[in-house]
Amino acid sequence: MSLFNLLVSKTIMHVPGPIVGYFAKGYIAGSALSDAVQVSRQLNQQGAMVTLDILGEFITTKGQATFFKQECLTMLETLQQEGLEGNLSLKPTQMGLTLDKEFAFENIREIVKKASELNNFVRIDMEDISCTDDTLELYRSLRAEFPGHVGTVLQAYLRRNLTDIDELANDKMNIRLCKGIYNEPRMAAYKDGSIINRNFVESLDRLFHHGAYVGIATHDEKLVFESLRLIDKYGLKPDQYEFQMLLGVDEQLRQIILDGGHRLRIYVPYGKDWMPYSRRRLKENPSIAKHALLQMLRKPQ
Ligand SMILES: Cc1cc2nc3c(=O)[nH]c(=O)nc-3n(C[C@H](O)[C@H](O)[C@H](O)COP(=O)(O)OP(=O)(O)OC[C@H]3O[C@@H](n4cnc5c(N)ncnc54)[C@H](O)[C@@H]3O)c2cc1C
Repeated sequence: MSLFNLLVSKTIMHVPGPIVGYFAKGYIAGSALSDAVQVSRQLNQQGAMVTLDILGEFITTKGQATFFKQECLTMLETLQQEGLEGNLSLKPTQMGLTLDKEFAFENIREIVKKASELNNFVRIDMEDISCTDDTLELYRSLRAEFPGHVGTVLQAYLRRNLTDIDELANDKMNIRLCKGIYNEPRMAAYKDGSIINRNFVESLDRLFHHGAYVGIATHDEKLVFESLRLIDKYGLKPDQYEFQMLLGVDEQLRQIILDGGHRLRIYVPYGKDWMPYSRRRLKENPSIAKHALLQMLRKPQ
């Protein structure tokens, strides 16, 4: 890692909000649902599907959770009214998981029920390890009640990942597979990038083996390559999997995947509570700050 990247990565949690906002704006559609709709329409026109996400996590009051639940219900209605090719992603802690598990489960159930009435789909994002068991429990019960309308996320950095896959395999799975973004203790998660990559490939193989529909969420071209190999090995048709990427990341790879005839979904976050998401993105890839800085310096005065 270059000195600049190391510096950004180590200090990003202390950088003032407006500066983070400047560097991170390419990752976020805007502050309102209408911004997300506009970005989604453009992405649909380019051949990509979307998943909308209202920013906000680890909330502290039930009132906030109720606000986010209402926003998710509105998002589902808006997707239908606007005729967009898109679904919804949400975070359990945004629905109150850390305040009151039953309350959070009921909020998420209401959203998935609405998605099933509208023939749409909800992806339950995976947060840090303190949420993993509850999130998988919630997913199990909702997929039994609303089959085909809910999925969750598994993280290849977790040592338990292959076991989780096997334990979920008693019913049809819809899984987004990613590396994982939280800073987990070594006892729970692999720290070595090459091991995480091997576990990603092993996990994808295991998921396909169990007949899962997988959202392959990565910008790592090595993993895209390995995924294509597995898609070929299992003889999958384009409607049996999809690739997923974050808004604002590696648009060239996005185009390569689309040109290859694969389905691709872009994660489109929006909302006023953009700070934690933006800091995570910058910490994960400090070179973004470098590119934004260079662009700023190149701008004609
Ligand atoms: C659609 C989607 C949903 C996700 N949902 C979750 C979730 O629910 N839970 C969770 O823990 N994690 C989630 N993640 C994050 C994921 O776990 C990884 O942290 C993230 O995707 C980076 O890993 P990578 O596979 O892209 O590989 P990396 O090795 O991190 O990146 C590969 C290359 O992609 C580029 N790149 C990667 N990230 C960025 C970035 N932010 N900005 C610019 N370039 C970048 C860089 O060029 C890098 O060299 C999600 C990711 C995606 C794409």
